[in-house]
Amino acid sequence: MVARCLAKEKRKVEEPVLQQKVIQDAVEAVQSPLRETLSCSICHQVSREPTICTGCGQLVVCYVCVLSSLEHSESCPLGRCQWNREELSGFVKSRPNFDNIPGL
Ligand SMILES: [Zn+2]
Ligand SMILES: [Zn+2]
Repeated sequence: MVARCLAKEKRKVEEPVLQQKVIQDAVEAVQSPLRETLSCSICHQVSREPTICTGCGQLVVCYVCVLSSLEHSESCPLGRCQWNREELSGFVKSRPNFDNIPGL
């Protein structure tokens, strides 16, 4: 098992161009659906902290956009569900962040 891993490591070094292409393709395959799915409906960027309304379950915006929209109204922009500014309830972060996905 260890020997196989080492052999793989060696191949990576020997074929840097191919390896880079493989990584690029993999990153693109991960990114393209994410870009669409995680597009924030407020700032239109990919949400780094995608936040979902627990009322209607379909709102995807950045956590920071949720916080700034809370200053104007305590309801979700799509379904008019009740949010709470003090308790920060009515919505939930789906993931802590996506900082480790290159290019997002
Ligand atoms: Zn946003
Ligand atoms: Zn909602």
